[in-house]
Amino acid sequence: MTLSVHGLPVARGIAIGRAVMVVSSRIDVAHYFIKPEEIASEIDRVRRARNTVADELQRLQGSVALMGPNDTPHELSALLDVHQMLLQDEALSNGIKHWITERLYNAEWALTTQLEVIARQFDEMEDEYLRERKADLEQVVERILHAMKGSEAVQVPSPPTPRRKAKHAGDDDSVDALISDGIDVPLVLIAHDLSPADMLKFKKSVFAGFVTDAGGRTSHTAIVARSMDIPAVVGARSASQLVRQDDWVIIDGDAGVVIVDPSPIILAEYGFKQRQGDLERGRLSRLRHKPAVTLDGERVELLANIELPDDTAGAVKAGAVGVGLFRSEFLFMGREAQRQDRLPDEEEQYLAYKRALDGMQGMPVTIRTVDIGADKPLDGKSQREDSHLNPALGLRAIRWSLADPAMFLTQLRAILRVAVHGEINLLIPMLAHASEIRQTLALLETARAELDARGVTHGRLKLGAMIEIPAAALTLGTFLRHFDFLSIGTNDLIQYTLAIDRDDESVAHLYNPAHPAVLRLVAETIAECRRQGKGVSVCGEMAGDITFTRLLLGLGLRSFSMHPSQLLAVKQEILRADTGKLVDWARGVVASEDPALALAAPR
Ligand code: PEP
Ligand code: MG
Repeated sequence: MTLSVHGLPVARGIAIGRAVMVVSSRIDVAHYFIKPEEIASEIDRVRRARNTVADELQRLQGSVALMGPNDTPHELSALLDVHQMLLQDEALSNGIKHWITERLYNAEWALTTQLEVIARQFDEMEDEYLRERKADLEQVVERILHAMKGSEAVQVPSPPTPRRKAKHAGDDDSVDALISDGIDVPLVLIAHDLSPADMLKFKKSVFAGFVTDAGGRTSHTAIVARSMDIPAVVGARSASQLVRQDDWVIIDGDAGVVIVDPSPIILAEYGFKQRQGDLERGRLSRLRHKPAVTLDGERVELLANIELPDDTAGAVKAGAVGVGLFRSEFLFMGREAQRQDRLPDEEEQYLAYKRALDGMQGMPVTIRTVDIGADKPLDGKSQREDSHLNPALGLRAIRWSLADPAMFLTQLRAILRVAVHGEINLLIPMLAHASEIRQTLALLETARAELDARGVTHGRLKLGAMIEIPAAALTLGTFLRHFDFLSIGTNDLIQYTLAIDRDDESVAHLYNPAHPAVLRLVAETIAECRRQGKGVSVCGEMAGDITFTRLLLGLGLRSFSMHPSQLLAVKQEILRADTGKLVDWARGVVASEDPALALAAPR
């Protein structure tokens, strides 16, 4: 039966493929693809963990037997028997082997996937006693996962063997025709939630699209998805409950709709839409080498947002003239399974920044110092689960860096060193207080002095601050006295101005970039920078949203930083715009009670 689920559209396009479920478990589990040559050792890891658990259960049985009948309930012994039985269950072991061998899932992922498959079978059982055994199975699987904790494989986030179908879904007008293609079909990722660190592991994989139950439009998980340039829907609430492993799924990243088990007619319709989208992309790609200049001759700088040095390839391909935001925290995240020191040292960071600079082939790179905390925890585990505090208002970004000067100095030294090789801009996130600015500048001087003391050369760089807290946007004078340029982080500026958690899908409808308060802060920041002759850019998601391109141009913005996948569509808007005609209109939009309506009105 065809079902549809609505969520938030975060990355454009249509994806059609079979579902790969990433199942949440109470134990924090890594998800990554193994190499074919690792299949045997991965299966062996599960076997050894199962043996350990079998011994544990055996020992428990022994101690229960030693207790008198009055000390232990009879049920305890029976329960341990059930656990032993479930542990040896063939459906569990064969399923795990299947996911490892056929899909190249790591052992933990295979285990939680098979748990989900069997748990759903339990849910459908008529017999209440059997239905309740699901909880036992969950406990057994958790025991195995615990036993595996000590034997984690060295994690290589390598791409899986491509199993992508070249032709489009819908070419053959029938679901069966697609299914008969066996495993050689596109895969789409479905999860309840994914941390940005988890998303990063999937970045190089061949998923054709992805869906999560949780998340807001500018959550970092959505941002990584956008950088992968695959159709994606977040905040789809119940999607992971409704979709089953291997179900056929259509993801409409334009409308934010997920269709499960589509009928042949629906499939054909979306196959057509998918082809239209490909044609449009083909047309846009012709703009790649065209300079971004408006009809009235205003030159606009289009920069790329990147998470990792390798992303520069996509940035250059899209025609970016530099990197406007390198989210350096992604170098720091999800490292626990690599059995290295938790944080990258100076040399590792220096090499990563150098790779980004080399990747940009002489164009400038703006490195933002780490923005760890809130929804980007170091270990992929959200602080939300551990605390009643609100992490978005807590120790995050520059606050985190200033709280750990040794870590911050390491990063500053690495950035100063790489500035010898090219045009590097240093960008500081989440500043709000003059005291934070003073401390940051003092630590930058300390980092320079430390390099001098070691006799290590370092370069000059431009210093920028992100404007992403209303307090910063309302005290621009302080910022402009100390910084060479400002970069407006609209994602957080909206979150903090409107008191809307950018990750929370239940308030996503109130997360409104076109709220007059947000637009006034953005407009004033651009205007003040222009008045003082300082550089200003927007690097939040607003910069890559074509709904706002003309408005931002009308407000005087000439530097936009966005995901490479959005760059050509924004360039097309710029090529069609006449800024002279936009200035008064933009002023009117900002002053209006409902800018969203004013934006939509014909000009
Ligand atoms: C922003 O807040 O707009 C921004 C670009 O930073 P991040 O999305 O990484 O918080
Ligand atoms: Mg931010």
